[in-house]
Amino acid sequence: MRPFTHFDASSTSDAASTASAGGALFIAGGTDVLGTLKDEILPTYPRRLVNLKSIEGLDYIKEEGDVVKIGPLVTLEALAEDETVRSRFACLAAAAERVSGPTQRKMGTIGGNICQMHRCWYFRTPENRFPCLRKGGDTCFAFTGDSRYHSIFGAEQGCIAASPHDTAPALIALDATIQTTSASYSAADFFAVNGARSNVLQDGEVVTEIQIPNRETRSAFQKFAERKAIDFPLVNCAAASSSEGVRLVLGGVFPMPLRMPDAEAALAGGISEGSAGAAADAVVALAKPLSKNAYKVEIARALVGRTLLEIA
Ligand SMILES: Cc1cc2nc3c(=O)[nH]c(=O)nc-3n(C[C@H](O)[C@H](O)[C@H](O)COP(=O)(O)OP(=O)(O)OC[C@H]3O[C@@H](n4cnc5c(N)ncnc54)[C@H](O)[C@@H]3O)c2cc1C
Repeated sequence: MRPFTHFDASSTSDAASTASAGGALFIAGGTDVLGTLKDEILPTYPRRLVNLKSIEGLDYIKEEGDVVKIGPLVTLEALAEDETVRSRFACLAAAAERVSGPTQRKMGTIGGNICQMHRCWYFRTPENRFPCLRKGGDTCFAFTGDSRYHSIFGAEQGCIAASPHDTAPALIALDATIQTTSASYSAADFFAVNGARSNVLQDGEVVTEIQIPNRETRSAFQKFAERKAIDFPLVNCAAASSSEGVRLVLGGVFPMPLRMPDAEAALAGGISEGSAGAAADAVVALAKPLSKNAYKVEIARALVGRTLLEIA
């Protein structure tokens, strides 16, 4: 690891103004960011880490009017165990519960989970040996190389790394809003980037709160990984059904979590075995797997069916 300075922020605006000077990265639980520094995967090494955990009072989960508010420093363990989240937003509790293993869930935060960098093995190779598109280079090495863990939905151009976050599909399915120090994004727009960044945040922008509409919702989350413990999703799926219809979102299949409107349309008359099967068919009809990852299409089909039948 190379030397860097460590700055304990006292507030989100303090963190934002310190980091916006450039050459800085935020650190929350550190379960992702420290690995990127140890392996030296980034083209420019940060001179400074801006610690968010030194900011008091950002680890709340509270109901306020028609939203539930979640602070960015809530750990995945706390999220998975919280009674409000478990009873209202089952898909989010289940997603948090399936992230990695107990130690990462104790340290890792919801803010860090949605802001983590992608997991492509070319991008993550130590010492920045593959200067790929995600690092500002001009080649996606996975596209002509080994794409077995990569996108299956039409990422023929640009980066084909698959979205790694377990909580992101749940937040999109629940129609969450992500507040930052300078803007407010619907969760569906927060990840809408296919290139050098994993999300829309600008340098120095801090996620300050996640808000979820507090309405009657039935929801579920399913994940398939090679190993049951401590493994990123090959595919994950979240579905949420409310008076506004069903929202269905897949992760691990595209550079960002992917909402599936055609599948949602198949569920307009309600969720049954028949409509869940039709939704799963609508999902896989759009798949365009690469040479080594067609197996993920059948996983996606199975997960969509299972997730929907869980809330039928
Ligand atoms: C072995 C292993 C297994 C893992 N398995 C999974 C898995 O199964 N599923 C999964 O989803 N993830 C997994 N992860 C990734 C990671 O542990 C989790 O995503 C965790 O939630 C990250 O949270 P953190 O607080 O530790 O983030 P950090 O490492 O502190 O930060 C991650 C990134 O987010 C940025 N960041 C953090 N907080 C904020 C904020 N409030 N505003 C703006 N930027 C911010 C940081 O600058 C950094 O770029 C795994 C990691 C490891 C090492």
